[in-house]
Amino acid sequence: MRPARALIDLDALRHNYRLARLRHGSRALAVVKANAYGHGAVRCARALEADADGFAVACLEEAQELRAAGITRPILLLEGVFEPAELDAVERDDLWMVVHHAEQLRIIEAARPATPYAVWLKINSGMNRVGFMPEAAADAWQRLNASGKVGEITLMTHFARADEPHVIGTEAQISRFDAATADLPGARSLANSAGVLGWPAAHRDWARPGILLYGADPMPDAGNGLLPVMTLESRVMAVRELAAGEPLGYGARFHAERPTRVGLVAMGYADGYPRSAPDGTPVSVDGQPTGLIGRVSMDMLSVDLTDLPAAGPGSRVELWGNEVPVNAVAQGAGTIAYELLCNVKRVRFEYR
Ligand code: PLP
Repeated sequence: MRPARALIDLDALRHNYRLARLRHGSRALAVVKANAYGHGAVRCARALEADADGFAVACLEEAQELRAAGITRPILLLEGVFEPAELDAVERDDLWMVVHHAEQLRIIEAARPATPYAVWLKINSGMNRVGFMPEAAADAWQRLNASGKVGEITLMTHFARADEPHVIGTEAQISRFDAATADLPGARSLANSAGVLGWPAAHRDWARPGILLYGADPMPDAGNGLLPVMTLESRVMAVRELAAGEPLGYGARFHAERPTRVGLVAMGYADGYPRSAPDGTPVSVDGQPTGLIGRVSMDMLSVDLTDLPAAGPGSRVELWGNEVPVNAVAQGAGTIAYELLCNVKRVRFEYR
């Protein structure tokens, strides 16, 4: 059996959720969109269901997958609905939905729900992606309220730079949100993971932690005590000896500066390991730190075993997890942990 696998530690997931809830001090929706950031949405939601106040997903299909698997906690659609036909399913599956632009307001006003919808009104406080402008927030709220189609209205916004503790943008977003909603009733939700961990002023009625649940700290040096949930690992399947000066792999990106023992590992970019990872990207072999060498191929990659004489075929290779922080791999590859975790595929998933 090909040894490439992703081990998912559901206790670590629960630990991270509890930590988020404790830090935030009130309820938290566990964000399990994008297949729980690549970890398996159903398995993660089941593992969290006893603890979690609810879940957040991007879209209807993701929510339906959870309901079909028996998840009964509240589920929020972060993108809301795209067309009126989705509202039947929203009602049937008892989903909450974000409303972030005028077309969604119109869809709700025209709907005929048997029971009122639970809506989260999204306000653009500075991310400048989706959401009602602060000056339009009260009007949007009044329209929802007057429509007779909506019960509870929660007020929310989303941060652009909360993972940068010394940037003033987050404070400005909090102030804009507070000013825009000062006269409106209802619960508030501001904090994503970085908001939970770094911005107490953003702690309100609901948090929406995502990446922290999976143990990747959005502020990697902050020492927040998160536990990695995914370990991506494989094994050395062959060893190649290179003389000084010899090239390795596609494009001959790596040339041996000294006699070099190369471990070929069953893990490639078709498994989600980033092709953009440079020479020296941290890797752990039998618990010992070493580095990637040569270009990542579709099905394999190579690691430097020169200083690890005991390592050879069969040696365990951790690409990320407890020994190699996924943030370190992401940084080297010029991306973020979110993208790496979401992209893992083809490998066997094992849960414990
Ligand atoms: N809230 C919203 C609206 C989001 O779009 C996301 C993710 O992108 C989150 C919360 C979770 O963010 P994070 O994974 O940074 O905690």
